[in-house]
Amino acid sequence: MNTPSALLNAAQKLSSCGYENARNEVRWLWEFSSGEPTVFDSMIEKRISGIPLVRILREQPFYENIFTVRPGVFAPRAETEILVDVALASIRGLPSPRILDIGVGTGVILLSLLAKRNDAIGIGIDIATAAIQNAEINASRMKLSDRATFRCGTLERVDAVFDLVVTNPPYIADSEYLSLPPEVRNFDPKEALTSGSDGLQMIHAILIWAKNNLKKNGHLVFEFGYGQAERVKTMLGMLNYNNIQIVNDLSKIPRVAVSQPYYIPMASE
Ligand code: GLN
Repeated sequence: MNTPSALLNAAQKLSSCGYENARNEVRWLWEFSSGEPTVFDSMIEKRISGIPLVRILREQPFYENIFTVRPGVFAPRAETEILVDVALASIRGLPSPRILDIGVGTGVILLSLLAKRNDAIGIGIDIATAAIQNAEINASRMKLSDRATFRCGTLERVDAVFDLVVTNPPYIADSEYLSLPPEVRNFDPKEALTSGSDGLQMIHAILIWAKNNLKKNGHLVFEFGYGQAERVKTMLGMLNYNNIQIVNDLSKIPRVAVSQPYYIPMASE
């Protein structure tokens, strides 16, 4: 088979599997195989067997960069790009912001922010060693290693204060885990997805922590799940956060919350 008909044939196979973007996928896979037919065919076979494109290519475009995505690390989602826009708006005009990304994964959020703001510095934490290694690879790929520090562990390992805390935490209810599609369940780590019986356990812990670790006028920007907006607003209100805003994603689904911790001014201020 000559190349154009091999590509067409592959595109037809992928679209008969129901992949809507079959033609583009075939182009990317061909490019990644460096035009090597046996490599290309094996990639197409993997795709037909249901392996997500990002797990075959091990790369993912996000915001304005291409990120390495290693096996076993949560793959960045396009919906999260809106969080980067909201976070950038919250530090506009603030010189040399200090940023913390909780559950840094591949590093997409923190590194996209540092790439846009060359006066910012940041810390990324994650409980998974694989994530920390992955984020370090991306930091060095983007020449940001001098402004990004990564730590493996929980929030107890962070005692600094920040201008901006960002996070795309796990927010799926434990009971929903088994209903997730196999391309999620079989490839993304469970700890990056689920958080207790209502999915809000991690968000709640972060809200409590961030009150003590955000600077005056600092912002907390986080992603949450489908149908959680009202509960998120209630939680923020109960913990005395103010300037609460909920931002929709491109599909008009409430997706990101931005808020500031309550701040009690001293008598002398
Ligand atoms: N911050 C990373 C991302 O948004 C990882 C998120 C996670 O592990 N839940 O891709």
